[in-house]
This record gives sequence, C-alpha cells and structure tokens, in this order.
Amino acid sequence: MSTSHKVHCLILPYPGQGHINSMLQFSKRLQSKRIKITIALTKSFLKNMKELPTSISIEAISDGYDDGGFHQARTFVAYIMRFKEVGSDTLSQLIQKLADSGCPVNCIVYDPFLPWAVEVAKNFGLISAAFFTQNCAVDNIYYHVHKGVIKLPPTKNNEEMLISGLSCTIESSDVPTFVINSEGPRILELMVNQFSNLDKVDWVLINSFYELEKEVIDWMSKIYPIKTIGPTILSMYLDKRLHDDKEYGLCIFKPMTNECLNWLNHQPISSVVYVSFGSLAKLEAEQMEELARGLRNSNKNFLWVVRSTEEPKLPKNFIEELKLTSGNNKGLVVSWCPQLQVLEHESIGCFLTHCGWNLTLEAISLGVPMVTMPQRSDQPTNAKLVKDVWEMGVRAKQDEKGIVRREVIEECIKLVMEEEKGKIIRENAKKWKELATNVVDEGGSSHKNIEEFVSKMVTISK
Ligand code: UDP
Repeated sequence: MSTSHKVHCLILPYPGQGHINSMLQFSKRLQSKRIKITIALTKSFLKNMKELPTSISIEAISDGYDDGGFHQARTFVAYIMRFKEVGSDTLSQLIQKLADSGCPVNCIVYDPFLPWAVEVAKNFGLISAAFFTQNCAVDNIYYHVHKGVIKLPPTKNNEEMLISGLSCTIESSDVPTFVINSEGPRILELMVNQFSNLDKVDWVLINSFYELEKEVIDWMSKIYPIKTIGPTILSMYLDKRLHDDKEYGLCIFKPMTNECLNWLNHQPISSVVYVSFGSLAKLEAEQMEELARGLRNSNKNFLWVVRSTEEPKLPKNFIEELKLTSGNNKGLVVSWCPQLQVLEHESIGCFLTHCGWNLTLEAISLGVPMVTMPQRSDQPTNAKLVKDVWEMGVRAKQDEKGIVRREVIEECIKLVMEEEKGKIIRENAKKWKELATNVVDEGGSSHKNIEEFVSKMVTISK
C-alpha cells in the first residue's frame, strides 16, 4: 500500500445499481480522507458495465453465475445461496491476493444483503462495517420483523400501528410490500437476514442523515453502533468539497444527456414534471395509459423516463402526438437520463416517482417536491415519510384495482406545482435541500460521522 494511505478498505456491494452507486459515492468520500479503496463487484455485473470509474480500484469476485448473474439463477433463493458459497471463497481469495501484493485489507464495508461477508472478515481478523442502503425507518421495520415483534401479516387493512422508534403511526399500505404480501417470503427473509450478523460488526452505516430521521436513528442507536453517512450524492451537487468529482456512478443504461438538457433548457423555470420509476419497476399497461393521460391533462410540460422494455406499454401514437405539440403541455420521453443533472435543472417543478430510496434521497438533496406512486419493496414506506414526516410531497392514491387514475395524477401534480395548499410542500423541499448540503459539509452530522469512522478505523488498524 502506498505510504500516503492510512488504511485499506474493501467495499462489497450487492450487485444492484442503487446499492453499488451509494457505496461508490461513499467510497469517494473515504478516499478523499486518504483511505485506500477497492470495490469488489461480481463478474456478471462488471460485464454489463458501459463505463467503469477511473478514480477507484475495482476487482472481480464471483456470485457463481458469471454469465448472467441473478437472471441466470433458477430462483432468487438459489442465487443468494450460491452467492454465499462462491462469494465467500472468491472474496477470501481476493483478500489473500491483495495481502500478497503488499496491499493488505484492514476493513470490509459490506452490504447486509450479503451477511456472510462478516465471517470472511473475521477469518482474516479484519474489522467490518455493514452499509445499509435503505433509510433507517425501513431498517427499523425489518428489524422488528426480525425480532418477531411485527406479526405477519401485520394489521388488518388500514388499521394504524405504532412501531417503536418510528416518528409516525403507519398503516399496512405504508409497510414494505415484502412484509405483507406473498410476493416473496424468501425476499423478506433476505431483508430480515440483514440483521443476522450485526452483533459481530464494528459499525452500522446508514445511507441517510440524522436531521431527516432523528427519532428512529436515536432509537436504533441504542441497539447498534449506527452512523448515518448520507446522502451519498456526488459532492458537486452538495458541498462541492471533493474536487474533480465528476463521475456519476456505475450505470447499466446509457443516459440521453444532450437530448434531456437541450430540451429542459427551452422550458420555463419550475414548469416541468420529471417522471421516473427507476431502473426496475414495471408498470401495468393500464397504469402507463392512465399516467400518460394524467400528464397530458395536467397541462404541464413533462420529461418522462420510459425504459426501452416499458415503451411498448405506452398508448398508441403517444410519442408521435408529443412531437406535434407546441405551446404548453410539451413532453419528452427518453429511455434514461442523467438524473442529478435533471433534478438540479431550474426548469424542474416536481418529481413524479415510485419513490425508490436513491431517487428519493436525490430529490431531497436537490430540493424537488414530489408526487409519489410507490409500487413495491420499501417504496410505500418512503412515500409515507415524504408525505407525512418530511412534508415535501403527496401520494397519488390507487383505486381498488391498484391503479392510480388520470384524474388523481392531474390533481396531485397541480397541488404540488401551483396550488396554495402545495406552498408548504415547495418550501419544505427547499429546506431539506439546505439541510442535506449542510450535513455532508464541514462540521455537519454525516461529515462528523465519516471523520469519526475514518479515525477509529485508523486507530484500530494500527
Ligand atoms: N436514474 C438515473 N436515470 C434515470 C432514472 C434513474 O440515473 O433515468 C438513477 C437514479 O438517479 C437513482 C437510480 O437510478 O440513483 C434508481 O435507484 P432507486 O433505488 O431510487 O430505484 P430502483 O431503480 O432501485 O427502483
């Protein structure tokens, strides 16, 4: 290891876009504090990467499915089990290789979707930190399922429940979907297993910030050595302290940067609804139609990310009709966009989204009010927090068929963007942006936590 580095940290993300990017941005902050970073990624994920970051060293391990990763496995459970077996071996080989090359690892920062990493760390006598990519409220709910405190299914429909640590009561429609439906008891097992080795780790890092979730962080901190280190957004959008931090992240889709920015540059300030359902969500064709009509009826301009696999579900001739529209209510559909650049753009007035945690944290960090349409996983909980705790958005309600209708979409967009009732939402969004910037800046809560983490790592590793 170069003498300028104090400690070598091996970062092990679960191979999913949101997981990797938040750990990558965190790694850059560590690297700026003279921590040597190596990120271990699966061969299957690496194969699909269009571009790799140049500033951080990346090494390959195997999940046992080197050709197709998760998609190659028969079931999700099969994937996780094989990843544990092959992953443990190949991670151990990597740690040995790094030691042999004179660059020994001191600490493993692992994604708790892969709890077996703690055993590997212990075998090599390394210190370890779990890195939770979800927010603390969601972690708290899974923790209570892990402890058997939340009975499954947790409540009768719409009955309010109070979970220790949470700052608001929640209904079953706010709980992560894996907890309440049959979508996957096995996926719930994965979520709950995140806590299985936590008594052996030195730190629990959470991609959130103290001011956003004070109550639940204080509560969870009595159980685990928690440090909030977020938001893990490129420094150039927040504190601007990391120089040359231009690399966006690891992306499996190619953003249509010029198309998006050229189009946005021609729209008035705060006039555009930005619409994105992230990298995974699949909407019903009926929902796509309602969304398309709702956007048109809102009479606002919109930029809508529709991944190529989702495009056939758009109403017939929708894109052609858009091209013929002039005046108000113009729209652009793209397959992928540079989201942070878009959210930062002055023409954006509102973000309509499924509320994946990364996107939500990005909207908070860039102060964009939201209309939420959660689909699955932790998205309903995030949407609840956006609406009732952070008060920076509204939730577009589904009907009994599970579809959000065009009138509801239109009404929510208008409320957030123009109505008096939405003023507090727009003001709160600005307030959160300021706080998000302050927490990672010198002296802010996440900044202090990162400094403390680094200094303890250095002391222990001596
Ligand atoms: N994203 C992007 N361009 C897009 C849509 C999404 O760069 O056109 C990024 C977004 O900035 C976020 C990630 O994709 O960092 C989505 O992660 P999230 O956890 O919010 O949702 P998921 O894709 O896991 O459902």
